Amino acid sequence: MPDHHIAFVALGANLDDPVRQVESAMNELAALAGTRLLGRSGLYASAPSGYADQPDYVNAVAKLDTSLSPRELLDQLLEIERQHGRERTFRNSPRTLDLDILLYDDLELDESGLHVPHPRMHERAFVLLPLAEIDPDAVLPGRGPVVDALAGVVRNSVRLLAPRTSR
Ligand code: ADP
Ligand code: MG
Repeated sequence: MPDHHIAFVALGANLDDPVRQVESAMNELAALAGTRLLGRSGLYASAPSGYADQPDYVNAVAKLDTSLSPRELLDQLLEIERQHGRERTFRNSPRTLDLDILLYDDLELDESGLHVPHPRMHERAFVLLPLAEIDPDAVLPGRGPVVDALAGVVRNSVRLLAPRTSR
């Protein structure tokens, strides 16, 4: 019997109908081998960070039950990004789809190309808000409760676009 793990994945898009990109990526996450979608946040809109001259982002977080290892999950995420036509141009450049592993059980991983918890999640309101929405008790290993991290970030560049209940 495969073992089960809880993983939180951040979804972000700001090109080519980003709402549709995020909605379809949710379905693709739910369809991954050995994986079940346990929860999904509403859709949030956020102003771009880093490189400002690009459209607003649509963000969401998915909660997965998965038997994939962190590395297998990352490979699947990169494959879904690729299928959405993502081109890697420059850091913080606009993208059709960005999928990041935020949390994987209470694991702390620091491997080449795979850092869990995601190293910048604790400073990103567009990640913390949807994460706290689907799991207010979530804890960032090494950092503490998501609600504490949320109290330390500026949230005014993030707004709820579509609450979870309306879909
Ligand atoms: P960002 O998501 O920070 O804007 P990219 O999506 O372009 O940047 O970065 C992709 C690379 O980040 C991937 O090739 C992957 O190897 C690496 N990476 C490291 N940790 C993670 C993680 N937790 N989730 C997703 N990608 C990660
Ligand atoms: Mg990424």
